Order: sequence, then C-alpha cells, then structure tokens
Amino acid sequence: MARIVVTDGMSKDAVAHLQKNGHEVVEKSFTKSELKNGCLADFDAIIIRSATKLTSEVINSTGGKLRVIGRAGVGVDNIDLESASDAGIVVVNAPRASTQSVVELTIAHLLSSIRLLPQSDRSIRSGKWEKKAMVGTELSGKSLGLIGFGRIAQGVGIVAQAMGMEVHTYDPYLPPKIAKSQSTRLHKDIDTLFKTCTHISIHCNLNDDTHHLVNYERMEMMPGKSRLGILCGNHIVNCARGGIINETDLLRALDSEIISSAALDVFELEPITAENKLCLHPNFHGTPHIGAATKEAQNRVGIDIVNNVMDSLNGKKVKSIVNSHLLKK
Ligand code: NAD
Repeated sequence: MARIVVTDGMSKDAVAHLQKNGHEVVEKSFTKSELKNGCLADFDAIIIRSATKLTSEVINSTGGKLRVIGRAGVGVDNIDLESASDAGIVVVNAPRASTQSVVELTIAHLLSSIRLLPQSDRSIRSGKWEKKAMVGTELSGKSLGLIGFGRIAQGVGIVAQAMGMEVHTYDPYLPPKIAKSQSTRLHKDIDTLFKTCTHISIHCNLNDDTHHLVNYERMEMMPGKSRLGILCGNHIVNCARGGIINETDLLRALDSEIISSAALDVFELEPITAENKLCLHPNFHGTPHIGAATKEAQNRVGIDIVNNVMDSLNGKKVKSIVNSHLLKK
C-alpha cells in the first residue's frame, strides 16, 4: 500500500477514502526550502492544490520513489510537467469537479459589477442611502465575450444566454462546430471579440500565449454601448488565472473610465498585498481565489482526485492524466 502526502488540505471524506483502501495518508504542508531539500522522498504520491509549487528543483529532489502527483483541481501551472515526466511521474488532476462552482462565481461577479453591489454595500455601511448613484444596467441585451471556450466558459455561456445575453468567444483551439452547437459566435481573432463585446469574461489557461493577453489596447477597443444603444460601459471579469490580464493596464483603464467595472478572483501575485492599487479603486471588487470554494466542489474534487491517484498507483486506466503526451512509454 502507498504512502500519500496531502500538502494543501483535502476533504475528510477523500482522506478517509484513501485510508479505507489501505493507504497511509500524511496531511502536512512544507516550506519551500523543505520541498527543495527532499522532504517528498519518502512518499509514493503527493496530492496538492494551488499553494504547493512543484518546480523542477523540488521534483528532482524527490529521489525516484514518487510515482504520482495529484492536482486537486484543474490548473497545473504550479507543476513543472516536463521535469515530472522526465522523472516518470504521472500527473493527474480533477478537471470537472469545480466547473459549476466557477460558472456560478463568474455570473455572481458579472451581476455584482453591473448592479453595483460592492459600491452599494460600501455605501450603506458608511451610513448613506445613495439610491440615485446606484443605477446599474441589465445583462439582458448585452454581448458577452468569453476568452477560451472550455468547460467553464461553456457553462457561463448557457447561463448568460438564459439571461438574454448574446454570447461570443475567442478560442483558437476550439472546433467551430462546438461554438455553433452552443449558439455562440466564434471570432477568429481576439481583437474583434473586444470590438464587439461590452462584457468580457476570461476562461482560458495561463500560458506563454495568454500571459497579458488582456491589455490596455484591447480594453480600449470595447464599445461601451450595447447593440440596442444602451450606454452600459465595459466590464471585465477574470475567474481563470492571474496574469492573463495585465493588472497595471487594468488600473489605467479603470482610471481613464474605459473600463466601468472589473472583478477578479485571481491575481498576478497571490495573496495580494496592500500595494495592489486595484483594491483602492471604487469600481473594482475581488475575491481571494475562491472559484472552487464551495462544499459541493470540494467534495467532488477530493473524491475525483483520490480515485485518479489510486487508479494510477494501481496501474489502472486513469480518467485524467495531464502529462500523458510527455511521458516516455
Ligand atoms: P478548459 O481546459 O476546459 O478550457 C480552457 C479553454 O481555453 C480551452 O478551450 C482552450 O482551447 C482555451 N485556450 C487555450 N489557449 C487559449 C488562447 N491562447 N486564447 C483563447 N483560448 C485559449 O478549462 P476550464 O476547466 O474551463 O478552466 C478554465 C480556466 O479556469 C483555467 O485557467 C483554470 O485554471 C481556471 N480555474 C479557476 C478556478 C478558480 O478557483 N478561480 C477554478 C477552476 C479553474
């Protein structure tokens, strides 16, 4: 039976599921220096979320026993996939478990932005009753541009359409028939998406191509006016990964009123510090990377990841291997 270390927390049910199957589970987090100095050498598998960074230095210090890395969630940008693959370590994730939770958070941010919920809340807490200052707009009749059209974006698209939005997307890897089947207009270049949409929501992965994909020049292209002529302003939401929006440009766009509201769940530097000036802007609101933070998603993510880790350890077919293309057969 395997020794499995869980470094970023996991639901009790998921830990119990591993133990019921005879595995030894150690729940412990490590410092960067411990990670670089071989603290994982005694484990067959590790299960992480986004906090533990498995760099090449960390992976190369594991000494050969580690066989599986389980990422309880979707994004694997905190794992050096090439080093893991070179070391013969299988990386598995749980890509579907948090989809619905992120869809709902995205819609919550969109609605909070256009109905000025953060501003209204700050105002009444300071003893004011500013009804006239809190006039928002509706989502209905507006164009929503989704950057990336994977699992989460498609879920957001369905809700947005139910609320009367026209849905557009830019995703260079998407087969056009998928967009068509979801009544979504697929743009061949990202600039036309920005020129068409008053509301943009980011749902692509963070990689070299998407780093700072959303910049001042693109935000400046947004129309500010709906196709029905309503001056609704321009709104941006990012519940994908920090770094896809250039935050310096976003602040400049908010200051110059090109962007009417911005809502971020993810930041270039997490946790954010007091130096992050976005938090001082009245038309900004944020959440501390809580896209997957629901009871339902945590339960699903825990069970999905332990099943995938155990299947991999047992040499069974695994539902979601991230680095199958890099592993030497
Ligand atoms: P997914 O893999 O299903 O979809 C990502 C889509 O992005 C794919 O369709 C892909 O083709 C597209 N894409 C890749 N490169 C692109 C580019 N250059 N331009 C435009 N599109 C591009 O992933 P998903 O499960 O829908 O997750 C989407 C994002 O949400 C990921 O970044 C993920 O890490 C993030 N996420 C965040 C949270 C959170 O807590 N906030 C939780 C889960 C997932």
